[in-house]
Formats: sequence, structure tokens, C-alpha cells
Amino acid sequence: MEKFTLQFVAELFDHRLTEQQKNISIHHIYTDSRQSVENGLFIPIVGERFDAHDFISGAIERGAVAALWSRSEQPEGIPKNFPLIYVDDTLKALQELAKAYRQALDPTVIGVTGSNGKTTTKELIAACLSATYKTAKTEGNLNNHIGLPLTILRMERDVEVLVAEMGMSAFGEIELLSSIGQPDHAVITNIGESHIEFLGSREGIAKAKLEITAGLRKQGQLIIDGDEPLLTTNAYPNKIRCGFTAENDYRVEAYEQLQEASSVTINQTTFTLPLLGQHQALNAAFAIALAELMGVPTDQAINQLESVVMPGMRFEKIETKQGALVINDAYNASATSMVASIDVVKQMNYQRKVAVLADILELGDFTEQAHNKVGQSIDDQFDAIFTFGTSSRFILEGLPETFSGKQKHFTSKQALIEELTSELDENTVVLLKGSRSMKLEEIIEALQ
Ligand code: ATP
Ligand code: MG
Repeated sequence: MEKFTLQFVAELFDHRLTEQQKNISIHHIYTDSRQSVENGLFIPIVGERFDAHDFISGAIERGAVAALWSRSEQPEGIPKNFPLIYVDDTLKALQELAKAYRQALDPTVIGVTGSNGKTTTKELIAACLSATYKTAKTEGNLNNHIGLPLTILRMERDVEVLVAEMGMSAFGEIELLSSIGQPDHAVITNIGESHIEFLGSREGIAKAKLEITAGLRKQGQLIIDGDEPLLTTNAYPNKIRCGFTAENDYRVEAYEQLQEASSVTINQTTFTLPLLGQHQALNAAFAIALAELMGVPTDQAINQLESVVMPGMRFEKIETKQGALVINDAYNASATSMVASIDVVKQMNYQRKVAVLADILELGDFTEQAHNKVGQSIDDQFDAIFTFGTSSRFILEGLPETFSGKQKHFTSKQALIEELTSELDENTVVLLKGSRSMKLEEIIEALQ
């Protein structure tokens, strides 16, 4: 479907098109020249290793009908009348175009940030709203300075609500994303310690997340972890608090982990959430708060939550050939989320429990302390703790002195797989968790 004509783009960048070019219909805005598209506007980003301007010919072969262009020289060997729209910086132009499209469509935008739980909460909110509104959401984890603009530009014209994940690793990033997405309402799921290396302290992390208020539209509501003083004491006026204590507007009053799901009570309504862990009950509270804010009846929102499905590698359950249950939570990790997952496994009804924990990255000076903290959260319900990588060694150092299970550190994935295989039977549950670049999912491929 048409997003806009090329004239919309040309006007934004003060570019003159021929009469014929003005009406070129743009259906797809993208940065990866390998994609096959129809009516595509190709935006070549200059990266550290590649400059996508070099791939213009391939992009045209695969369906680009126009492109942005920031080089002074014309590309060779492309059709003579192929429209190139000159801009100073293609990345900034992508962001400007997204902002203009967001303003032109004017859907209700919900920005979701926080140290942990952004993707999950985004999915829960979109699920709650999608029965009432035509809802778009961030695909997977496209939450950064390129992903957010692409998410916005992927919206069809009739979208009523966009739920956009906003991620960051340094100061200023959320402010930029917020200025592009201009959320009507925003959620800050929690303040953990991810990226503390760049942000200095938890106070710094909170400040960076609160940048989301910079682009928040007037009167917009800020929905926060209401048990986090770094958020509740902030001066922003319109806050909705979600949490476990009595002061919250949306309160998780009861939580019980069942075998495959959780029983959750929020503001006196009890329902079954097909996700495990108290933190997921909090994420559901954010979604219910937003649904109510947007006029969706709570019982309808809860119906949607009861059948929600998460994207892969987030507590994904896989059975091995030996019959063991492997929980693939290897999408990513912070110390907070690792402890949360360990707590969920503690509550599971299995005779034997094994945790395979890899390094948590980007912790700087906090590396040793954060890994120790994960170790401290482990108890004798676990029969074996295997760590993999470098700094995950500190998890073993943090284990309680009384811990009597097996503990072993690996630097070779192959050796780890061999040892783990000998632990597997139908009475065993295995948790796999570590930072994205540790690629723990390779272990599952070997086990299946
Ligand atoms: P990323 O920064 O990688 O995009 P994210 O913020 O999108 O992460 P999710 O992918 O939703 O987070 O969840 C990652 C992990 O965080 C989950 O596996 C879960 O263990 C944990 N988690 C989810 N919600 C919360 C929460 N509210 N508080 C603490 N931990 C949470
Ligand atoms: Mg995410």
C-alpha cells in the first residue's frame, strides 16, 4: 500500500523532482539493499564497515524506485531518470522522514523504554489494544536510532496506534528517539543496571530513561514502575504507577506461578497470564493501565493478555531428545533479568534444575559485583551451575557458601555441551541465559 508519493520526500529535503517523478508511489522505506521490495525508497546508511551507497545498483534491481543520496558524485550505471534525492546525511534524513510521517498520520504513539522488559511490555500493550484499534508495533527489537524510524515508516496509513520500543546505551539516545516518535504516552518499565558502564550509576540510568519525557506530547501520561523511587520522585506531573506496593494505581496484589503460566491479580481481578515470573505480572499491569487510558475495557484487555504469544528466545520452552526441558532465555541478559529468570526456575516443578549462565556484557566497573549478585540469588534448588565465557566466572564466586550442587566454568562451548548432555533427562529443567553476543542458542541447536 502507498505510504506517500515521492513528492512528500522531496518537499521535506527541498529537492526538485520532474512532474513525472513527483507521483512515484512509495510503499516501502528501507536501508538493506538485499531486500526485495516493491515501490521501495532505498535509504543508504553510511556504517562503520560499509557504505550502502555502494549497493545502489543492487537495490534498484530488487525494486527500489527512488533513493536518498548524500554523495557528491552520481552513481554509475543506474537508469538515467532514476530519482536520487540529495540530503546531507542519510541517517538524519531517515529520522526526519520518520518524524514527518509520524506527524502526517498522527496515530497515538506509545513509547516503551526501561532497562528490562521493553519488548515484552510492548507486546503485551499491543495485544491489549489490537482488538480495539488498528495497532502497529516494533518488529522484534528494532528499537534504536535506525530501528525506530523504520518502525514508524512501516506503519500503514490507517494505523491508529503505534507501540514503539525505545532502547539505548548512552545519554541523549532516548531523547532523540522521543523527538522522532513524539509519544502520546510513555512507559518506563524499570531501572536496572544495563549499560551502567556508560551511564555511571542507577541515577544516571534513570535520568537517561526519563529523557523519554522530552518528546512526550502535552498532557501525555508517563506509566512507571511505581516501586522505583528514582522514577516516582521525578518532577514530571502525569504519572501512573504500576507495581506491587499499596501506593500504586495498578497494583499486582497476588502472584502465583503455575506450571506453564501464572495466576495474577491486578486491582482485584484475577486472570491467567501465559508468562512466568513476577516481573511479567508487572508488565501486564503496564498493559492494563494503558488499555484503560485508551478506553479499552479491562475485561477485553485481560482476554487478550490470556492468549498472548512472545517473540522467540524469551523464556522459550524446548524439549531435548532426552526429554529435558530447556528454557531458551538467551535473547539477552542483564543482572536483573538473569536473577528474575533464576527465580522463575526456582518455582518450577522439576526434580533437577540446571542453569547455564554466560557473561553479562557492558557492565564496566560493575562487572564483578553484578555477576556476584547473580550467584547470590542461586540456592540449593539447583543441582548444577555451568558458566560460560569470561566474567560469568564471578557468578560462581558469588554462590552461597552452602551451595552443594555442581559448579563449573567453561571457556569452550563444545566442552559445555558435552557436560550438559550428561545432565539431561526428563526430570530436568535447564535455564540458558546470557548476553546476546554469547550466542547460547547454539547450545540448543546441538541438543536437539
Ligand atoms: P533489550 O534491551 O534486549 O531489548 P528488553 O528491555 O526488550 O531487552 P525483554 O526482551 O522484554 O527486555 O526481556 C528481557 C528479559 O528481562 C526477560 O527475559 C525477563 O527475564 C526480564 N524482564 C522482563 N520484564 C522485566 C521487568 N519488568 N523487570 C525486570 N526484569 C524483567
Ligand atoms: Mg527489546
